[in-house]
Amino acid sequence: MSKAVARKYRNRTLYTVQKLVYPTNMTNPIVLWRTTTNSDSKMDFYQKNTADSTNATASCWRRPTPTSDYQAMIISAKDTYDWVYGEIELNHYYLQSRSDVLNEATIMHEMMHVFGAKDITDDPLSIMQSSATNPRTVTVLTADANKLLKNKYTD
Ligand SMILES: [Zn+2]
Repeated sequence: MSKAVARKYRNRTLYTVQKLVYPTNMTNPIVLWRTTTNSDSKMDFYQKNTADSTNATASCWRRPTPTSDYQAMIISAKDTYDWVYGEIELNHYYLQSRSDVLNEATIMHEMMHVFGAKDITDDPLSIMQSSATNPRTVTVLTADANKLLKNKYTD
């Protein structure tokens, strides 16, 4: 994580990292820490203020070889390739009127997209439930998302 996270949402992001790395009654192999050295960062957070109907977006990139240019990954590529850099954009336009815990849930959801999780539309009790179809009710890392982290990132 880098210092690029917007000031208003910095603490929300740091709390969310704790909830992702140390989920209640679950474990996973994820290790994250904050860096102020941009070149060390694997996941950056930015803020925008736009009436575009999105609370937040996530994108990630891979490098086919260590000297390749970064390539933006489409969702299906996340099953095949590992990402090397992710970026999350938080939309102040909508987040400013929501609770801290709901914003943390959105940050968790978007971080899971960087880790390779996809939106689902059939389980309101999953953090990966699309908020476009149901209002977000789950605000913690859920077992399905934790399972993805364990399966994908355990050596
Ligand atoms: Zn999503």
